[in-house]
Amino acid sequence: MIIVFKHNATEEDVKSVSDMIEKLGYEPRVIHGVEHTVIGAVGDEKMHRSLEVFKAFPFVEDVLPIQKRYKLASREFRRNNTVIDIGGHKIGGGNFQIIAGPCSVESLEQMQAVCRDLQPCHIGILRGGTYKPRTSPYDFQGLGEAGLEIMRQIKEEFKMQITTEVVGVNHIAKVAEVADCLQIGARNSQNYNLLEFVAEVGKPVILKRGMASTIEEWLSAAEYLMVHGCTNVILCERGIKTFEHATRNTLDLSAVAIAKKESHLPVIVDPSHAAGRVDLILPLSRAAIAAGADGLLVETHPDPVNACSDAGQQIPSQNFGAYVQALQKVIGAMDLITE
Ligand code: PEP
Ligand code: MN
Repeated sequence: MIIVFKHNATEEDVKSVSDMIEKLGYEPRVIHGVEHTVIGAVGDEKMHRSLEVFKAFPFVEDVLPIQKRYKLASREFRRNNTVIDIGGHKIGGGNFQIIAGPCSVESLEQMQAVCRDLQPCHIGILRGGTYKPRTSPYDFQGLGEAGLEIMRQIKEEFKMQITTEVVGVNHIAKVAEVADCLQIGARNSQNYNLLEFVAEVGKPVILKRGMASTIEEWLSAAEYLMVHGCTNVILCERGIKTFEHATRNTLDLSAVAIAKKESHLPVIVDPSHAAGRVDLILPLSRAAIAAGADGLLVETHPDPVNACSDAGQQIPSQNFGAYVQALQKVIGAMDLITE
C-alpha cells in the first residue's frame, strides 16, 4: 500500500505513521516528493492487517493499493493471450468466433430453424437460455430442464457446441451435462458463491460484465473463477447502465480495450443486450471488432416478433448470413482467424 500525506503533514505525523506501519509488520519506505510525502508499505497484504485505517487520519490524503486485486487474470501473470478452445472453435490470441442463437430456448422446432440458418454461416457455437434471469418474475423464465433436453437433441443433430446460462448453484450439474461452455449473466456477475461452484465444473465460462460493475470488479470476478480452478474464462462486455435511454444499456468499448490491456483473457462483446435494438447490432459489432474484441455473442431468432424474451433485439435468423457477411471487411482488417 502507498500512504499519501497531505501538504500540511508534519515530520512527526510521517514518523508516527511510519512507526505504526512497522508495528503492523510492514517495511515502511518514506519518499519526500516535491508535492507530497508518501510512504510505501512493503509486505504481503494477505498476511498482515489492512492499512486502509490510515485513511481516517486528518493528515493523510489517500491510501492506495500497489498490487492489483486480480493476479491470475492479469497480463503481468501471463504476457501471452490465452486462447480458449470450445470443441475446436478457438477464441483469443487472434482467433475470432461469432457465438449466436436465440435469447431463450423455446421449442425444438425454433432451435432447429435457428441452426438451419446458422450452419451455412459457419457458426460453431450456439447460444440459448434455458434458465432465464428475468427482471420481472412475471416474465418468461425459460424452459429449465426441458430446454436443456432440447439443447441436447440439437447438439446431436447439428453438431454445434452449446453455451447456456447458469443462474443458480442448484442447476450447475444439469447444465454442465449438456453445455460445452457455461455462461454467467450480468445479474450474477458478482455472485461469488455461484462463481466458485461454476469454476469447479472445469468447462470454459463466459463471464458477462455486471451492468453496474467497474472493469476492476469484472476482472476480480474473473479472478474468483480462476482461483477456483477455471482457467478458461471469456470476458464479455454487454453494456452498462448509464443515463442514456436511447439504448437498453451503453456499450462500453473502452472496457474492451482496457480489459485486453489488463488481462490475457479473451474479451467478447454482446451487442444485443447492449443496444436492445436490432438496428444497432451491425454497427456496434463492427465497432467491437475494431476495438479488439475476440468474438461476438449475438441473439438471433427465426421469428423475433413472437420471441418469448428480448423480441426487439434479435436478428431474424434468415438475415444472419447477411449480418456475418457485412462484418467480413472489419474482420479482415483486424487480421482475425475465424476457423
Ligand atoms: C443473455 O445473454 O441472455 C442475458 C440474460 O444476458 P445478460 O446477463 O447480459 O443480461
Ligand atoms: Mn436476451
